[in-house]
Amino acid sequence: MPNAKSSSAGPAIEDLRKALGRVEDPELHKDLISLNMIRDLKVEDGRVSFALVLTTPACPLRDQIAAEARAAVQSVPGVREVQIRMEASVPGGKPSGSVTISARNVIAVASGKGGVGKSTIAVNLAVSLAQSGSCVGLLDADIYGPNIPTMMGVHELPDPQEDRIFPAEAHGVKVISIGLMVEPGRPLVWRGPMLHSAVRQLLTDVEWGPLDYLIVDLPPGTGDVPISLSQLVHLTGGVIVTLPQKVAREDALRGLEMFKMMNVPILGVVENMSYWIGPDGKPVDLFGRGGGRELAEEAGVPFLGEIPIDPNVRIGGDEGKPVILSAPDSPVSVALREMAEKTAARISVVVIQGGTEKAVE
Ligand code: ADP
Repeated sequence: MPNAKSSSAGPAIEDLRKALGRVEDPELHKDLISLNMIRDLKVEDGRVSFALVLTTPACPLRDQIAAEARAAVQSVPGVREVQIRMEASVPGGKPSGSVTISARNVIAVASGKGGVGKSTIAVNLAVSLAQSGSCVGLLDADIYGPNIPTMMGVHELPDPQEDRIFPAEAHGVKVISIGLMVEPGRPLVWRGPMLHSAVRQLLTDVEWGPLDYLIVDLPPGTGDVPISLSQLVHLTGGVIVTLPQKVAREDALRGLEMFKMMNVPILGVVENMSYWIGPDGKPVDLFGRGGGRELAEEAGVPFLGEIPIDPNVRIGGDEGKPVILSAPDSPVSVALREMAEKTAARISVVVIQGGTEKAVE
């Protein structure tokens, strides 16, 4: 049993907990002890070890938090060595909604209009989160242009078993698309009730298995699908994808308004096709870079990142290998990974603070 008070044998667990209790998570604004992020704290002969359990494996501040925790422990007299084991456990949003699903968090990706790169962002967000170690599903609910199968290189679903649908798996992500569930080449005119039952089926008849994040690619604009989705499951948050130019502003605002009306916390705005990197490596502003950031600031919601234009994005999308895998070191992939980390951090904030913080008001 570790001693409760300091003794010649080394520091007391209580003193270590106090020191760690002074370290704040920079985004959650609570200390590591209250957040239950320190587990399995042990001390033996001045050697301290513990697990630092982050709220997402994609935490952008993991090194900073670990360094601060280490420094705090080292400041306790008698500590000779500190061993930190990095772990992650993704907290889930409220399990409300009319259907029960096995995803801890459902994230909706929306855009005011088509062609802004919404599906591209959804795909790269999902793959990036999976790459960092999370269990991720991707649900393509874009009834007007279900192109997630092409982008993920998925062409069919496994055979259903006893009325249960199994998602395809690609690049570490479980994938379902409304496009894989209707007969190819047969146009469907979706009506409200049909859509509602299709969305329900995609959520409940699919063997998703336990997921940390289910990313939903919504159809562009505001319509029946987001309403159905938000009625069926609790949405942890929504991401709006927009273009930099001023004319995209009104569309993006409508998307933000839609999430507000549905009481869905806004995780933030992503500006896609922000700029182009010329042969000299310098960014070239094509469409008025910064429109997305300005919009986010004015609307009082977080900004999740600027994604440059790069032909590899389209090539990766057409070939079924998302750019963060086909060209992982390119600037666009670095930007996409940062966007995914910021989004994951925002999800933690919204879940832990109950979505009540100023930014989602
Ligand atoms: P949406 O889902 O909004 O309709 P998509 O994600 O399907 O948009 O993107 C539309 C097209 O633009 C696709 O061919 C895609 O590969 C391409 N694209 C998206 N983002 C970028 C980017 N940052 N650079 C280059 N091409 C892109």
